[in-house]
Amino acid sequence: MRLSDVECECGALYRCAESETLEGEPGNLQCASCGRIVEAWQTRNRRVYRCMLTPDRSYPVVTPPPAP
Ligand SMILES: [Zn+2]
Repeated sequence: MRLSDVECECGALYRCAESETLEGEPGNLQCASCGRIVEAWQTRNRRVYRCMLTPDRSYPVVTPPPAP
């Protein structure tokens, strides 16, 4: 089982688990937030994606307070 992280242009983060033993089929990952094709593959290994972070749940960028 290989793990890797894939990030969509919209900021959503997916964790990919690719099995080296189970058989799957070529396909692609469509972002659940923006609908873009984040990743496409031609291998026949089984892949499972889990959404780790959606853009609306990510932390906002906090600006540091001004120096005294
Ligand atoms: Zn997206």
